[in-house]
Order: sequence, then C-alpha cells, then structure tokens
Amino acid sequence: MAHTPAFAGAGYTRDAGALSYLYRLMQLRLYNTAARAKQPFESLTPGIVKMYCCGPTVYHFAHIGNLRTYVFEDLLRRTLEAAGYTVQHVVNITDVGHLTSDADTGEDKMEKGARREGKTVWDIADYYAQAFFKDWKALGLIEPTAWPKATGHIPEQIALIQELEKKGFTYTVPGDGIYFDTAKFPRYPEFAGLDIEGMQAGARVAMNEGKRSPTDFSLWKFSPKDAQRQMEWDSPWGRGFPGWHVECSAMAMKLLGETLDIHCGGTDHIRVHHTNEIAQSECATGKPFARFWIHGGWLLEAPEESAGGKQGGGKMSKSAGEFITLDVLINQGYSAMDYRYFCLTAHYRNYLNFSYHGMDTARDSLRNLRKRTDPLIGNAASIHSDRAAAWHERFLEAVGDDLNFPQALGILNLMLKDPDLLEGERAGLVVAFDKLLGLKLTEAEAPAASADLPAELVSLLPERAEARKNKDWARSDAIRDQFRAAGFVLKDNPDGTVGWTKG
Ligand SMILES: [Zn+2]
Repeated sequence: MAHTPAFAGAGYTRDAGALSYLYRLMQLRLYNTAARAKQPFESLTPGIVKMYCCGPTVYHFAHIGNLRTYVFEDLLRRTLEAAGYTVQHVVNITDVGHLTSDADTGEDKMEKGARREGKTVWDIADYYAQAFFKDWKALGLIEPTAWPKATGHIPEQIALIQELEKKGFTYTVPGDGIYFDTAKFPRYPEFAGLDIEGMQAGARVAMNEGKRSPTDFSLWKFSPKDAQRQMEWDSPWGRGFPGWHVECSAMAMKLLGETLDIHCGGTDHIRVHHTNEIAQSECATGKPFARFWIHGGWLLEAPEESAGGKQGGGKMSKSAGEFITLDVLINQGYSAMDYRYFCLTAHYRNYLNFSYHGMDTARDSLRNLRKRTDPLIGNAASIHSDRAAAWHERFLEAVGDDLNFPQALGILNLMLKDPDLLEGERAGLVVAFDKLLGLKLTEAEAPAASADLPAELVSLLPERAEARKNKDWARSDAIRDQFRAAGFVLKDNPDGTVGWTKG
C-alpha cells in the first residue's frame, strides 16, 4: 500500500473530527506523459518523493521559456510538500556533452559558448550557472536538494556505459563514439509514440555514418582528431566526453536510486532526451526508471515580441541569437514576481503566449492582489470556521487536480472578496495559499519610496521605470544622474524593485 498523506496547510489547526473533508484531497492527481492520462499520485517510499528535473545547459543565459519550466517544477514541489511529502529534488547542471543538434551531430554547446566569448569552458560554465542561480532565487524557486554537475560525475557515466556494453546494448562507430543500439530495446518508440519506420525512411541522408538507426544515440563521444577539446576524459574506449543523455540517467540513479517517483522536463525533451534516458536506464537496471513523467508546455513567442523582432514566432529558443531573459524583463520595469504570476495564469501543460501586453496584465493583477493582501500581513490566525475551511478545500482541490493554478488564483481572488470571512482567517488563508503560489504575498515589498528620499526624486521613479520599459536608456540614465547629483545611488534589485543608498 503506497503512502497517501493528507494535505497539511499552513496554520491549519482544525481538530480531527473536522478533517473528513481533507480525506477527499488525499488523491493528488498528476498527468503522466507515460500513461497519457491523469493518474492518482502516490510515492513508492512512504512520505518521500524522489524527483529529478532536467536542468540548464550553462553555455548561455536561460531564456524566460526555460524558466517557465522551472516555475512549473517549483509549483509541483510545493504541492507535493503541501501533501505532506518530503521531496528529494535534484536539478542537474549540464556543463559538457550537449551538442547543438539532438541527432549527435554538431558541436558541444559549451565549447561553442567558450569560443564565442573567448573564455575557458570552465569559466563559461561557472558564469552562466551563477546567472542561473540568480534567476532561480529571484523567481522564488525553492532550492533543490542537490545541483549535480555532469563534469562532476564522469566515473558514474562511464560505469553506466560499461554496464550497457556488458549487456550487449552498445556498438562502436569508429572515429565517432559508443552508441546505444535502440533496436535492442523494443519498447523504445512507446514513450513518445515514435514512428520508427517513417523516421528511418526520412533520415537516410542526414544520419551519421556508421549509425545503425536514426534513433541510436551516443553514450560516449571520442575527442576529435583535428581539434583540441577543453573538456575531455580518459575512458575504456579512449579519450573523449559523455553524451548528454547519459548524464541525467547516471546522476539521477546515483542520487535518487534506480526508480524515481517523478521525472520532469519540458515537452521538447519527450521525443529524444527522455526517450533515451528511459532506454539506457531500463536496459542497465531492468527496472522502471521513473513512475511519473511530467512535462511543462512551451512558452510561445509572437513574432513582434521577440527580442530582436527577427524570429518568426513559435517556441522561444536561443538558436535565433536573441532571446528574452529575466533581466530583459526586469530592465523593462517588471519584477521577477510579475513573471512568476504570468506563468501562474496558464496551466503548466498548456502553451503560454508571451507578450508584453500579457506581462502588463500580470503586473497589474499582482499589484491589485497585493493591495488586498498587504494589509493582512502579520495578522494570520488559525482557521476554525467552516467557511474558511471550505475556501481552503476549494483551493487545495484545484491544486491537487494536476496543478490547476489558474483556477487556484481565481479562488484566492474570490476568497479575498468574501465579506463573511473573519480577517484573521482571511490572512491565515493567504499564508496557506501562498505557500503553494510562492508569490511572496506574506512578505512586505521593498518600499517604493522612503522618508529619506526627497519627494521630487520619488516622483521620478515611475518615469524612470517607464523609460526603461521603453528602452529609453538616455532618459533612464539622466534620471539616475539626477539622483546622483542629489546624493543617492540607485540600485536595480534582481526582483525588479529599485533601491537606493546615500553616497
Ligand atoms: Zn535530462
């Protein structure tokens, strides 16, 4: 019998007799890509969820489409914690082996990034990992239990490849690398519903020489003869580097065991990366690799909204050269929480169309929400009345139903307007709800103005935000100079707020 704990909302102290309604909430239902259906979620080990999330390839800044996936995973983690689980949450850092093409051609994104910037690969990895952690914090994402790096787990990856070799799942392409033979894993097409015959017909020309099937993938790549790689290691097969897919299986199994409760990523991982993770992990261990596969939908970009106006719309990506980062949004006057709110307005599995108009709406909605919740900060009381319990129930039901956060947000807004709720309970519900929403509604915002700032300078702040939003850097800089002349140094905080110091 698997473990099915009750939701444990913050500040919730009703006695056991009143908890019958919570029983109905015990069934957390999540959409499992492997089953193509919503299924009741239960962990394999009572009280503990082992969750692995594919992390960033640190060759460049994360774009806001990448970040949407981590916001969804954060909402999932918070929901699991509200359901009483301890979550062992692993997010890897890919710092080697991710090629520019999923078909094992092209070059290593990390080595390419290093050449672009004239730095070492190690410096590039460190720089963009730090930038990623900054975005992570600004968005209020809960720190994972571990951030393993691919380069820190080379022996584990080699051991996994050796296991596959021993069991007869690999072959060598001379001068190229060690490949996984997908024909030896008959269930290979199942997870993504692949049409292997169609793919073979279409891929004859583009396929690497020596590869037996277009779906075969590299486990180990040999270092090129004609170029010196910065990152390479000795292996039983010669000097080289691990393939991208093998790192996730090796690190997930090392840190979480051979069968995970949940494996997450973006929907773009389903066809190749996650299909390959399943093949190599299950062939090595003979056990199911993950019980639930949960995928976040794409952030779509309208053509006129792309950073350089050059892209033709579609899924946000870095390949076109220019892309929108969290800092780009912040420089245009939005806060990281505005973006988090924007993500909350769409169901995690749906496409979300990015637009600045949408960001304006999200910012206005969050401001209006804060107007109602700010006066409640610090007044939270335990929930006793049936009325408050019913709001709590509705909220948790929405969240427990495959993370329906758009609906949960609506319930929060309705609850705030309920005239029959006691203020203390209303405040208690905001605390409980925000544990899941993560909008920092229970923290006071940095003050927009303070007593030590002259009124004429205070009045310039909105103008500067507007100028930054319109990329009017000359006006924005002029206002900064006015502050400096008056003895104040402006500082733009990562969360989008503006601070200042005397100096
Ligand atoms: Zn992965």
